[in-house]
Amino acid sequence: MSVGVAGKMLRKLEGWTEKVEASPELIEFYRRLLRIQSIAERRVGIPRLDLNSEAINDRLEQGLPLIRFDELDLNWSLLQATFVEVTSAFAKHPKLFGPIPKSLVETGGHHHYLKEAVRAWYEMTRLPTAMVPDGVNECLLEDIIQATLKPFLVGYSKARLSSVNQERWRRGYCPICGGSADFAFLDKECGARWLLCSRCDTEWLFQRLECPYCGNQNQNALAYFTDDEGVYRLYVCEQCTQYLKTIDLRQAKEEIEIPLERLFTLGIDMQAREYGYGGDKPGSRVERYKGSED
Ligand SMILES: [Zn+2]
Ligand SMILES: [Zn+2]
Repeated sequence: MSVGVAGKMLRKLEGWTEKVEASPELIEFYRRLLRIQSIAERRVGIPRLDLNSEAINDRLEQGLPLIRFDELDLNWSLLQATFVEVTSAFAKHPKLFGPIPKSLVETGGHHHYLKEAVRAWYEMTRLPTAMVPDGVNECLLEDIIQATLKPFLVGYSKARLSSVNQERWRRGYCPICGGSADFAFLDKECGARWLLCSRCDTEWLFQRLECPYCGNQNQNALAYFTDDEGVYRLYVCEQCTQYLKTIDLRQAKEEIEIPLERLFTLGIDMQAREYGYGGDKPGSRVERYKGSED
């Protein structure tokens, strides 16, 4: 049986801890999280998808992601169990994430609550205030949901990615789930830039001279920094002040596991924030889910 994305990451992380510029506590947290995700990923299996090729092309033409929330065939009892475990993993590190009230772990037990929260997160609408348990930071809740859904969504990405015409999509958000990128790479062949979805790990082609977060193409407002070896780049946008960490595979000497690079570059996140980049993402991205029905 395949070990899955999280399993592979976990193995490499065990060996390469010294590469991560982060506190031992943060590394311990990621290890714990990867273990939970790896187990869930193996239990999720291959999702069932019934969209025909005409509907797929229609959606891609309209800029609509290929998987809508109602089309996710989620195993809710597994998802609920994963949510509880992920929440406990966050709760073990109050120094990193602040205190997490017991009630949040407990609310994972109410099927209806979790389903609505996951839907709101997936469709990028705000969670109704009444749905956020007392004392819980909404951003933290979103992070917990994202970490819970990751092992479920990567399967959809694997099953659907071959339907995406990369040359035609080229939008700032994921063609599979509509999520935003949180990492990028320049490919070995010609240095084309590919984005990595923060939610489902889908990789998609995107132009180098455009900010994927706000669509800015003004070259005077776009820049990048590199490290001494020229392996990593930090793309920044002066218009929306977002940043994008990127690895240049033409310069990388060893075999690279792209999703794991997010963790190896936590030091770059710290730098980017020191420079003043990376605040709230611009505007609502709910438009991604509108458009005509197929
Ligand atoms: Zn995605
Ligand atoms: Zn921007």
